[in-house]
Amino acid sequence: MTSFYMLLCETEKMSHSWNISNTKGITMKKLEPFIKRIIPKKYHQYFMGIYSYLRSFYYVGSRYECPFCSGHFRKFLPAGLNNPVLKDVVGGGYRLNAQCPRCNSGDRERLIYLYVKNKTDLLFTNNNIRLLHVAPEKNLQKVLSLKPNIDYISADLKSPLVMVKMDITNIKYEDNYFDVIICNHVLEHIPDDHRAMSELYRVLKPNGWAILQVPISVSLKKTYEDPMVTTPEEREKVFGQSDHVRIYAKDYKDRLENVGFYVDVYNIANDLGDDAICRYGLLRDENIYICSKPTERVFDGNLTGATLHNTTVICREESAQMTDLPDMLIGNRKNKIYK
Ligand SMILES: [Zn+2]
Repeated sequence: MTSFYMLLCETEKMSHSWNISNTKGITMKKLEPFIKRIIPKKYHQYFMGIYSYLRSFYYVGSRYECPFCSGHFRKFLPAGLNNPVLKDVVGGGYRLNAQCPRCNSGDRERLIYLYVKNKTDLLFTNNNIRLLHVAPEKNLQKVLSLKPNIDYISADLKSPLVMVKMDITNIKYEDNYFDVIICNHVLEHIPDDHRAMSELYRVLKPNGWAILQVPISVSLKKTYEDPMVTTPEEREKVFGQSDHVRIYAKDYKDRLENVGFYVDVYNIANDLGDDAICRYGLLRDENIYICSKPTERVFDGNLTGATLHNTTVICREESAQMTDLPDMLIGNRKNKIYK
């Protein structure tokens, strides 16, 4: 075991002397074909889990902390493509401290987890909740699917590991079905994102909420897309990644609102502070897009499913205190729901 651990340390050292530019880290990438040859398929996941666990001891330290596995590390692993096209794209491109060396959680899923844990009732309520998790991240999936009151549905167009094969431009569920939807970095892969957004809007319940994340350029004013760019090579050159079909920009919120969503743009750094952002390996400028579905009916006192903490406060205290609450969490709902 000692010599195996020494081998892991040497491999990790080598990985950092190379130009790491893939999303899982070059060590894992290099090992995967070897593992697939010598270990039966059904044991791959277990082996990779053991590998990551042992590898993590090489990174033990105090600077970084993973909220999923509670590990403390001197650094996280890098992730993302080192493509100059993605230089100004928040949430895309190469990130230096992105992946937990133990549980492999990514910065994107840690961000959503911390938001859900700190700003919603989702992990604490006993209400029955229907939750749709599109292209699920492994650690977030584990947390959500283990909650007995959450009717958890994972979905993906291609992955064989999900519960439902789903094209989100044509969702096979009835209107107003889900209380919560999490769709993290998916829409940038979908040619007809307007239709996908419309479908997500359709299946979300009034008073429900959805987190719809994409990589966003801070230098572009308008989302850039070109339907004539179709090959993986062209897409990598133009959009920064071979399977991306656009680069979203500051108008992303408008695109969500165009299908009917009310959108709150939330930055977790403003709540947790820059030290926490660094400690959890998050991106300072990555905003969370919290989308909700308006309803014209007067609130009747019954909340469906998990609610945003402050929304719950708004509902229970009703309109008298609404003016005291942050605009970010009220948005247009203030006039629509409680008039
Ligand atoms: Zn971790």
